[in-house]
Amino acid sequence: MSISHDDSPAGLAQAGLVPGAPVDLATGAVRVRRLLGLNPGPMTGPGTNSYLLGTQSLTLIDPGPIDAAQQQNFLDAIGDATLTNIVVTHTHGDHSPAAKGLAALTGARLIGLNAPDAAGQDHSFVSDRVCTDGDVIACQDGASHYSLQLVHTPGHVSNHLCVLLREEGMLFTGDHVLQGTTPVILPPDGNMSDYLNSLTRLLELPLVSLAPAHGEMMLAPFTEIEKLIAHRLKREAKILGALRELGECSDDDLVQKAYDDVGSHLLVWAKKTMSAHLIKLEQDGLALFDAPLWKAVR
Ligand SMILES: [Zn+2]
Repeated sequence: MSISHDDSPAGLAQAGLVPGAPVDLATGAVRVRRLLGLNPGPMTGPGTNSYLLGTQSLTLIDPGPIDAAQQQNFLDAIGDATLTNIVVTHTHGDHSPAAKGLAALTGARLIGLNAPDAAGQDHSFVSDRVCTDGDVIACQDGASHYSLQLVHTPGHVSNHLCVLLREEGMLFTGDHVLQGTTPVILPPDGNMSDYLNSLTRLLELPLVSLAPAHGEMMLAPFTEIEKLIAHRLKREAKILGALRELGECSDDDLVQKAYDDVGSHLLVWAKKTMSAHLIKLEQDGLALFDAPLWKAVR
């Protein structure tokens, strides 16, 4: 689960992309291929992007949902090489469920943070190693090598990792940063304060590009991240403004006003992310919840 559509442009096009067919991103010294999943939909946009790194000792990032056809596509793309690692950015159903079966077939080890106790989580994924922020996974790839740095980025979910391919400055962002839309932040496991902190932390990394789990590559990483932070803070300010204007109000009334720029059919998703904003505002001492009504602290 990834996309809130609270403010996204209509649709996410990945023009010319054939789902399941590997596309060489040809970004630098380390080979990176992208395979678009066979799972387009309202929550996944064009589908889940899986990334295959290396030439002989491979790492697959986010294998996606269980899908026999896509599993065969992975095996075809792997060919005579060895799949050494399967890394999952998080354990939502469109990212991790295929990992276990593919690991059993290939002997790859599983790397990621196990599922928290929350809705929509894939508990079949169990990491083969304990992962902590800053861990570097070194991969000898024939005569060459590449290294992956794990960056813990809670917010969309508490167990979210971004993965930095250090030789290329390429950050695999999972659902933390998406192209053309914004991720849903679903409390209580999703947390807006954490999300903003996790975005700010990315600004310290030596980034060259962002490779999201949904949508196209982004080649201006700092601009994209700063835009996303500004967008969330602007929405927060709008929610607080609406709260001050309305006085005590239900979240149904509040969402109408705070998201008056969003189509009414999308308000059900907007409301979820709004609740994450409200929890942050409450923690910041700016809003108060007196069930079932919210009000601003003046
Ligand atoms: Zn997700």
